[in-house]
Amino acid sequence: MYTQEIINDFIIRIPKAELHMHLEGSIEPKMMFKLAERNKIKLRWESPEALREAYHFNNLQSFLDLLFEGCNVLRTEQDFYDVTEAYLNRVKLDGVRHAEAFIGPQSFLQNGVPIDVVMNGVIQALKDAEKTTGITTGFLISAHRHRTEAAAFELLELIMPWRDQLVGLGMGGAEVGNPPSKFQQYFKECHARGFNLTIHAGEEGPTEYVREAINLLGVDRIDHGNTAMRDPELLQQLSDKQIALTMCPVSNLLLNVITDLSEHPLRIMLQKNIPVTINSDDPSYFNAYVAENWIQSQMKLSLTFEEMIQLAKNSFQGSFLPLPRKAQYITEIENFCLDFFRRDIRAN
Ligand SMILES: [Zn+2]
Repeated sequence: MYTQEIINDFIIRIPKAELHMHLEGSIEPKMMFKLAERNKIKLRWESPEALREAYHFNNLQSFLDLLFEGCNVLRTEQDFYDVTEAYLNRVKLDGVRHAEAFIGPQSFLQNGVPIDVVMNGVIQALKDAEKTTGITTGFLISAHRHRTEAAAFELLELIMPWRDQLVGLGMGGAEVGNPPSKFQQYFKECHARGFNLTIHAGEEGPTEYVREAINLLGVDRIDHGNTAMRDPELLQQLSDKQIALTMCPVSNLLLNVITDLSEHPLRIMLQKNIPVTINSDDPSYFNAYVAENWIQSQMKLSLTFEEMIQLAKNSFQGSFLPLPRKAQYITEIENFCLDFFRRDIRAN
């Protein structure tokens, strides 16, 4: 019998990748106040504690409203650098070996922040943090689905000078009423330009959105994908094509996508051979970095060691890393497990 303490230790230390997180969703309240002060921006909260208290959401929209408001404090390259660096330093403690991070430049462009400020700040921080933390990184640009397809095309042109520093493109924002089919031409163009592609689908939106994402847009992976659970044929397709789902259990719980973590579809999907992964989405706003998402899921869904090892492997398999690098990380997991269980036998 393993105690919860041993299980948690296993979770924290097993090598893992995080594939679904938004840098603008990782600004801790203290950082928010630091940046606001630096940029002489008045926040409507008295203190970081009061801001943390405001993190109670009814649904995706109520969260997005606060998220976009928070984006207001990011103004300079140094701001983007600091937020990115803080995230990577934090998840090093969670056993993260590889991180693929989104940012949505449209939130900052509309505040008058030039694109090169966003791109250069994040890219420099990722480069530096790779050296200091040993975490490999991938940078993804996310377009807003609640804006027009023309706006997504404009963004695409703006980011092209950094093409070689990007690992892929994604899409997020208000889902219901903004189906993947709205962006068919945009994704076709991104595909033609050779980008790896992902899109948020089936978080609040219907099963149909997940189907459209795969069949109309031809994305390489799906962010969330919860509502695919309602359609056995779609589940079969996800399994056959080995399309990774970057699921975010605590985010789902706090945005009322589910009412209890025990209802989360990730374990059943895992058992159906779908490459499910566990991620934090917006770790500061949901007060849970990636390992905490694993721990809460493990407890509520009674995930076994075998399932957790599979989740860790899926996180690298589902990444946009080159194949040999994926293989190295999978070997790292296997070595970690050998060592972990050998030690455990000795302890007993
Ligand atoms: Zn997300």
